[in-house]
Amino acid sequence: MMAAPAAYKILVVEDEQDLLRGLEINLTREGYRVLKAASGDAGLRLAIKENPHLVVLDVMLPGMNGLDVCRELRQKGFSAPIIMLTAKSEEIDRVVGLEIGADDYVTKPFSVRELLARIRVQLRRQPPRAPEGLAHYRFAEVEIDFQKCCATRKGKPLELTAKELDLLRLLIRSRGEVVTRDRMLNEVWGYEACPTTRTVDNHILRLRQKLENDPARPEHILSIYGEGYKFVD
Ligand code: CA
Repeated sequence: MMAAPAAYKILVVEDEQDLLRGLEINLTREGYRVLKAASGDAGLRLAIKENPHLVVLDVMLPGMNGLDVCRELRQKGFSAPIIMLTAKSEEIDRVVGLEIGADDYVTKPFSVRELLARIRVQLRRQPPRAPEGLAHYRFAEVEIDFQKCCATRKGKPLELTAKELDLLRLLIRSRGEVVTRDRMLNEVWGYEACPTTRTVDNHILRLRQKLENDPARPEHILSIYGEGYKFVD
């Protein structure tokens, strides 16, 4: 038995505004929570930030196309089902071969009813989970398993404290955006006894020592002067 639709968050990545809006209306009517993106890059960012339960992903997108988005999400450890929207028959082979890591596809033009049925099939296979659950993530030679609270770099185990993991998860979920020290204090330290922005800086320093090739010239955890920090892959 499937959980109530409201327990599921679905990301739709589609650049045709009418179709995007139509899907949003229909999915919302079914009770799903809907996130929208109109480009591949925005879709990729949102998927990592929000960790939806399912992604409906158009193949033909401006800039980064749907196949690349799908491949990159899988490389990063994103494991929720992905249903591709394909227009051209030649794309189907690549998608169906699943070499890019998609779970299913529908060919345009498709009926909403058909897409909804396929969404239900995919969701039935996975129970709803906490939206926080960025389960794992890979970048450079680092692999982090947030569920098991462990990480490796170049295949060797990395010792990360719980706070370092929380901080890293916040940075990765906000990948490409500046995260202020205040936000880090609020979301990672909460109401714990008087941490200061210095505490944040010390943790960032230690994360860099563990994750960066050259901690003095970080490539992934960047300082944004006067604002905070930003994670980039
Ligand atoms: Ca399109």
